Amino acid sequence: MREIQNSWPAGVKRTKQREAVLAVLESAGRPVSASDICSQTEKNGEAVWLSTVYRILELLVKKGMVAKINVMNSDMALYEMNRLQHKHYAICVSCRKIISMNNCPLETFIPKLEDEEFHVTGHNLEIYGYCKDCGSEGRQGERP
Ligand SMILES: [Zn+2]
Ligand SMILES: [Zn+2]
Repeated sequence: MREIQNSWPAGVKRTKQREAVLAVLESAGRPVSASDICSQTEKNGEAVWLSTVYRILELLVKKGMVAKINVMNSDMALYEMNRLQHKHYAICVSCRKIISMNNCPLETFIPKLEDEEFHVTGHNLEIYGYCKDCGSEGRQGERP
């Protein structure tokens, strides 16, 4: 197996299962759900149980290696390698497809906070609507 990350975090034991989960996240190139990861590890010949995938993801999120993306307050969460460059996503409210956003409108945004000493370390932005495939459904609402 190829080297997964040059910076495996301190305090996280390297195990086959953790490496298998990370390998899926690394090669996915898009946000994936825990069950996607589970079935992909099986395809890779390193099957990891779903409950174990969840436990590993929880740990990796806590360690900052993986970013958890909550989709419109639903139970569905997606996971992605935590890249240095953060990303935002647009979510189709019809088919739940996730589309990456290539820019960040908040990069130049300076929040006016009551606490002037507040140290901002990040932000979260969610865009939603209808994707290309669901476009016609989205327009149905405009009909009388
Ligand atoms: Zn859609
Ligand atoms: Zn941003």
